[in-house]
Amino acid sequence: ATPTALMVGIGRGATLGILVKGQDALEASGTITTVVLDKTGTLTTGSMTAHRLAPVDGVTEQELLAVAAAVERGSEHIIARAILTAAENRGIEIAPVAGLTAHPGRGASGQLHGEPVLVGSRAFLLDHAIDVPDEPDAADNLDNSTGQAAETSVLVARGRLLLGRIGLRDTIKRDARTAVAALHAQGMKTVLLTGDTPAAAASVAARLGIDTVLAGVLPAQKADAIRSLQDSGDRVAMVGDGINDAVALAAADLGLAMVSGSDIALKSADIILVRDDLAVIPDAIALSRRTLRTIK
Ligand code: ADP
Ligand code: MG
Repeated sequence: ATPTALMVGIGRGATLGILVKGQDALEASGTITTVVLDKTGTLTTGSMTAHRLAPVDGVTEQELLAVAAAVERGSEHIIARAILTAAENRGIEIAPVAGLTAHPGRGASGQLHGEPVLVGSRAFLLDHAIDVPDEPDAADNLDNSTGQAAETSVLVARGRLLLGRIGLRDTIKRDARTAVAALHAQGMKTVLLTGDTPAAAASVAARLGIDTVLAGVLPAQKADAIRSLQDSGDRVAMVGDGINDAVALAAADLGLAMVSGSDIALKSADIILVRDDLAVIPDAIALSRRTLRTIK
């Protein structure tokens, strides 16, 4: 490989809003066959709103939100941010919780007035022996009238009792569909990878025309998901925002981090996408291919 061609590629990338961290990355990325996309914060804006409070009988909306917000102070997740904002908007005073713990890809927990309190996924509550209702149907999640992504639900419990469900909405980025179509035009297979439920994931994938869905994947399993694609012969680019996907970014043949991501992701990514639109993803693939052709 001629270093000059690679340097030109890197320089051209910079003008497109693509920062290539090493020459190897540009060389490796010209042979990618599959693009794995993180959902939350990558295909969606990642600014969620808690729009539905569904307490069980005997519990008020206020109480449900107060408990959830108190626990979410222990988490940095965008779900936590949305719940804290909803509580603030209602003027709810947030009680101090002891032993606040964030459980990546699952939820958060602590002790409120001596009782265990939990907020998180259905699986998270089930693991704590809380009796929870069935998963909402995928059909309930589809709302094609708006640009909204499917609703994400979290459950709230105090002691052994379920207090209710909080529905959160995220918005699919406006250019996501076009970016996925551009990747397909480049001959790429597309995969949606998320810790969210199959129903929420399927709704987003259907809306965007993404080929394959891998849902309910815990942060620690995201790298394994990448490796199993590689084992079946794919050369994988992973696009993430860094929250929970730093290890997957590192496991991929090419890691691309959207710039809004955390510092961890930036360290484990080979290419950093600083332009604020998703078209930068097919642009990065095209740039790599052009650079490879120049070298050969
Ligand atoms: P993604 O892969 O979409 O980035 P995560 O892996 O961060 O999603 O989270 C997966 C699921 O775990 C969420 O949809 C939610 O149900 C639950 N979860 C994770 N963190 C929290 C939290 N702080 N509060 C409530 N639920 C959470
Ligand atoms: Mg994420």
